[in-house]
Amino acid sequence: MDSKRAWTGFLPRNAIVMFRRDKAVGRPSAPPSISSLEAELKTCSHCKLCETRNSVVEGEGMPNARLMFIGEAPGEQEDLQGRPFLGKAGQLLERMIEAIGLKREDVFITNVVKCRPPEDRTPEPDEIKACSPFLCRQLELIRPEVIVALGKCAAQTLLQTKEGISELRGRFHGYRGAKLMPTFHPADLLRNPASKREAWMDLQLVVKELGLKIVTQKSES
Ligand code: SF4
Repeated sequence: MDSKRAWTGFLPRNAIVMFRRDKAVGRPSAPPSISSLEAELKTCSHCKLCETRNSVVEGEGMPNARLMFIGEAPGEQEDLQGRPFLGKAGQLLERMIEAIGLKREDVFITNVVKCRPPEDRTPEPDEIKACSPFLCRQLELIRPEVIVALGKCAAQTLLQTKEGISELRGRFHGYRGAKLMPTFHPADLLRNPASKREAWMDLQLVVKELGLKIVTQKSES
């Protein structure tokens, strides 16, 4: 089963995603440019991950997006290409975004740390601490209304908690004036497809918060 079918299999068979694109993708006034922050990131050596990275993966997407996805850290492909969420996990994230009626370029996607940890290990506390100011500045510039924290590392870092993702997901948490929804990381969903149902429930709450609509129509028979 390909990733699209695997993901959209959790949508009701006769569901049609309806959305108001103008309302979904951005606010009328653009925020200050984030290009200066990106230039600063490209030469950052604030933690030891600078010694092994090929590229700094700042993040990408709409600079005034209403919806922001935050993952853990770049992986091998992301490190080589300088873009977040590539490969199978990235493809699944794109399907998740499409399932709520948006496109990848309508949202902003980034990670807690911007450089790949060796062997794709979990970022260490000193690395997260060193990189957090960059994420905070991104959040201040983009000012998303809704943040989806993908996986335990992002959720625990943003919410400053030790609670697991299963306890944190399923409800919004207040975060710097935004609403934060923790859910499973796409890589976790690839390993454990049974969790896609819960992730879809989380995304439905995001849909509602952003004023999008999922309308179920009666199937023709
Ligand atoms: S992970 Fe963040 S703090 Fe560490 S070198 Fe990369 S950009 Fe700098």
